[in-house]
Amino acid sequence: MIAPPMRWPEKLGRSLLEIVYPRRCLCCGDPLLFRASLRLPICGRCEQALSPIEAQNRCVVCSIPLISELERCTRCSERHFSFTCNFSLYEYRGPIRQIISQFKFSNRRSLAGLIAGLLYPELERRYPDLPVIPVPGSRRSVGRRGWDPMLEVARALRRSRGTEILTPLMRTRGAAQKGLHYRERMENIRGTIQLNRGSRCSAGLRRPVVLLDDIFTSGATADECTRILRLAGVREVFVLTLAMEL
Ligand SMILES: [Zn+2]
Ligand SMILES: [Zn+2]
Repeated sequence: MIAPPMRWPEKLGRSLLEIVYPRRCLCCGDPLLFRASLRLPICGRCEQALSPIEAQNRCVVCSIPLISELERCTRCSERHFSFTCNFSLYEYRGPIRQIISQFKFSNRRSLAGLIAGLLYPELERRYPDLPVIPVPGSRRSVGRRGWDPMLEVARALRRSRGTEILTPLMRTRGAAQKGLHYRERMENIRGTIQLNRGSRCSAGLRRPVVLLDDIFTSGATADECTRILRLAGVREVFVLTLAMEL
């Protein structure tokens, strides 16, 4: 998130405070001395190690980098996803993996703002006027944590950029996907996401929407969310994810 410029007394106070209590890099733990204006709460070295996917050729559906000149990867040629396309910004490794892990598993709720800041330029470039729907977190983890990660990110987008958010989805039960293959993931997730009838956004569901998630792995979760949204009348679903597990 880009902070507003500081006035000099504020700058001096911040610098003195940093000497006594230096903030630490989220990824490697090094002190962030005098780096208060950094875009991210990580050190310069870790910022350089961020791994945006820069492949020239990416699958037009799931966004996985392709070596060949083909339009679609093998998976997307064989099977049709319900969503129109996914775009992932980073590879799920290095600092991005650390940021997501700190956010979700070390309960650092404040990182929602940072993640929203990373997602926003792509959201604005691709889908400037579309409402955003966060993929709901599993009931168990949301219960344990007390907050829902992607909902927090969506709220941060709304606060800082005025993004319209809709929350028509909810989880009915958990569906641990770790270690499962693509087909197993598809079967495992089926029926675990439902329309949240209590949400007051049915009018918003006539338009195309952007489904927001942190990690794109098999596409199974995004596909199931899309299936439910399509049943609710959503015309088209575009998926935007912070990272892709390659
Ligand atoms: Zn670092
Ligand atoms: Zn693909």
